[in-house]
Amino acid sequence: MNTSVCRYCASLSFRISKFRPSDWPYLLAGKLPVRCRMCNQRAYRNVLIALKLNHESKVREQKWRIDHPKDKQTRARHIPA
Ligand SMILES: [Zn+2]
Repeated sequence: MNTSVCRYCASLSFRISKFRPSDWPYLLAGKLPVRCRMCNQRAYRNVLIALKLNHESKVREQKWRIDHPKDKQTRARHIPA
């Protein structure tokens, strides 16, 4: 099973989520809160996987911006903040 994909929408695009006090047990277990960029669901990922996904997601977003420099409306649909 590929644990890198979102279990709700199977997206590979994540960003690191804001920390909550309730995240501490997960942090101590080596997991980070992440949020899916497609469906906005919150999940926990192993810290190394989370950082890797966050980086890959940023790289994809940068590439997308280079390809679509003026298309802000479409960008908002594809890449929710
Ligand atoms: Zn998702």
